[in-house]
Amino acid sequence: MDLAGLFRRHVAAAVDLLWPPDCPRCGRRADRPRDLFCEHCWDGLRPDRPDSSPRPPGTPAVFAAWTVDSRFLEMLVAAKYRRQRAVGRRLCAEAAAILASRVPAGTLLPVPLTRAKRRERGFNQSEDFALEIARVTGQDVRTDWLVRRRGGRPLAGRPREERADAVRGAFARAPGLPLESIPPLILVDDVVTSGSTAAECILTLREGGGRVRAVVAMARARDAHDDAPSLDWTRLEVV
Ligand SMILES: [Zn+2]
Repeated sequence: MDLAGLFRRHVAAAVDLLWPPDCPRCGRRADRPRDLFCEHCWDGLRPDRPDSSPRPPGTPAVFAAWTVDSRFLEMLVAAKYRRQRAVGRRLCAEAAAILASRVPAGTLLPVPLTRAKRRERGFNQSEDFALEIARVTGQDVRTDWLVRRRGGRPLAGRPREERADAVRGAFARAPGLPLESIPPLILVDDVVTSGSTAAECILTLREGGGRVRAVVAMARARDAHDDAPSLDWTRLEVV
């Protein structure tokens, strides 16, 4: 960084210290300016509840720290698309702390980005989350067993059938996957909405003999009545 840049950064840090910027969500003073949102907003993330109804055979358990709401989405968008890395780190750390005692044993596999997208963004939020869980639980993380062959348009707001079509064939097993001795796998994603992406990953791994025991996410969407998860696992069910 040049001298002018260094100077600007120091001035910005000093200004933040004297007059902490307002929380972009509620306008309160943010006590920890690097975390962008105020502590009131951080504390307001909605805890997700464990599933009570039995799962159809062949479908994985889902563990999420929070239920998706506008507050969580605002934080995730800041972390992923506005390069607020401190927000992403705090989301990962808090979610991992909440879930650490619930994540089943197994090797953690973050949902990958395409190599081009990973390079362009500089990080993969799901990978950061998996690494944070591993730091707390001591589980293995493999980022080279599943690869993303192609991206896709954003799935948000699209009907279920379109979501499944949009990700079909998007993933592949990497050559490093030890076919003879695959441990139980835990798929890690930042958000589970319809489950289309997770289902596609699971089917891709299953074709190679991999068994996904659970999906772990920072947050998951629930249906309009806020009770049942809005998942579509029909492609995974074993009859
Ligand atoms: Zn706030």
